[in-house]
Amino acid sequence: MKEYPVQRAAALKPLPDPDMLVFGKTFTDHMFLMDYTAGQGWHDGRIVPYAPLALEPSAMVFHYAQEVFEGLKAYRSPDGGVQLFRPMENVRRINSSCERMCIPQLPEEDTLAAIEQLVRVEERWVPAKPGTSLYIRPFVIATTPSLGVHAAHDYIFCIITCPVGAYYKEGINPVRIYVENQDVRAVRGGTGYTKCGGNYAASIRAGERAEEQGYAQVLWLDGVHRRYIEEVGSMNVLFKIGGTVITPALTGSVLPGITRKSCIELLKSWGVPVEERLITAEELFDAAEAGRLEEAFGSGTAAVVSPIGEMGWGERHVTVNGGQIGALTRKLYDTLTGIQWGTVSDPFGWTL
Ligand code: PMP
Repeated sequence: MKEYPVQRAAALKPLPDPDMLVFGKTFTDHMFLMDYTAGQGWHDGRIVPYAPLALEPSAMVFHYAQEVFEGLKAYRSPDGGVQLFRPMENVRRINSSCERMCIPQLPEEDTLAAIEQLVRVEERWVPAKPGTSLYIRPFVIATTPSLGVHAAHDYIFCIITCPVGAYYKEGINPVRIYVENQDVRAVRGGTGYTKCGGNYAASIRAGERAEEQGYAQVLWLDGVHRRYIEEVGSMNVLFKIGGTVITPALTGSVLPGITRKSCIELLKSWGVPVEERLITAEELFDAAEAGRLEEAFGSGTAAVVSPIGEMGWGERHVTVNGGQIGALTRKLYDTLTGIQWGTVSDPFGWTL
């Protein structure tokens, strides 16, 4: 496996109190950097002290948002080791995002090696308290100083890491969401299936409006018909209706979540019928009003699963499973977190 040169930080930071961790605020001692230059390809992969990047104000990322990122976690297992959950899926997804944004492909094995080596260098930062982890944020930015609208010739691939606290500190509380009728997150043919920063910038306004009205997140509809459900906040969404789990199909405007994929694979292994297909808000609310919507939850790396307890759509309001987490949602949560933190066996070979 590829080994990158490491320039150690002169002084190491004190470790934060694991009870006081705020997501994405405290960064570790080192980061991974690799450069891309036209004609030369990706070169000079290295681990260096965490520090600001110096970029020209004309760097293309600042103007046309040619940028992609990923998000995954390293987990402390009971034997004191550290493990990653399906990291090659994130590497493949960043390359899929790169392809859409005209960013050159990253070498997959070497990118995985970079993630693994950085986590080894930062091992002391992987917290051990239940539910805590080390969040890993790989990203690529276009650095060519030029205001012409075209693909850049120069890029930086960077990986930073930060310790994160338990997502559910006071137990799992089902959230309230509403169907967003104004803004759309993504459209088919656009960039919805990628993790590019622009998707998230476009989603902030709806999230803020939802919060102002006492909702945790929005349920996104498709951008063309404004009928089909796509995702919830920045998570995929799954519904159990009449014994079958239904999740929106990956039509191009939905991010192919790794937690979503893992939920589907687990459910199928348990003999639970799963359908990946189009589902309208109307079908969902009709099912809920007829008492057939048994469970609803979001899925993503941050929360693993996030049960939905209440949903609004214009004048229509429904409660899911009496506002309680459903049995299948709970089983998925327990199984996935068990595999991720190494407290249950991993029959799928998902951890590395
Ligand atoms: N949808 C969006 C828009 C997201 O940002 C994420 C988080 N990466 C997800 C879904 C869930 O994906 P994953 O399970 O790979 O974290």
